[in-house]
Amino acid sequence: MTERTLVLIKPDAVARGYVGEILGRIERKGLTISALDLRTAPGEIAAAHYAEHEGRPFYPGLLEFITGGPLVAAVLEGPRAIAAFRQLAGGTDPVEKAVPGTIRGDFGLEAQENLVHGSDSVESAEREIALWFPHLAAN
Ligand code: GDP
Ligand code: MG
Repeated sequence: MTERTLVLIKPDAVARGYVGEILGRIERKGLTISALDLRTAPGEIAAAHYAEHEGRPFYPGLLEFITGGPLVAAVLEGPRAIAAFRQLAGGTDPVEKAVPGTIRGDFGLEAQENLVHGSDSVESAEREIALWFPHLAAN
């Protein structure tokens, strides 16, 4: 069964020149890139995207980070695309959770600046795709 997932190549990864590396890993995994856009996220989009974390101590800093420079937003498609991309990304904390061989495990040092975002469920994916790519919303 084909799934869609919303991926962000976060501003730290863009600034460090990892867009090609990360897109290459996505392509080599076999996922299809069905939308791709470099943009600077407006505050309202970032706040809506991370609404589940509102109230957490890191939330204000997270919004500042995500809106602080250009990022790459993408929609990926493929069988089990949601889990497949989260496997490529590795765990949230690049040192404590992500293992070498993953994007975060290979390139990250800090919990916040962890290079990528990937949707965590079908419901999140559809909500996030509608937020970042309204013309691709399911309905
Ligand atoms: P993800 O689904 O693996 O991206 O992780 P979460 O949904 O739990 O958190 C969203 C994002 O918030 C993460 O990708 C990090 O950029 C950031 N984040 C999560 N936990 C922490 C934390 O403990 N400290 C800081 N500074 N940032 C965090
Ligand atoms: Mg998450």
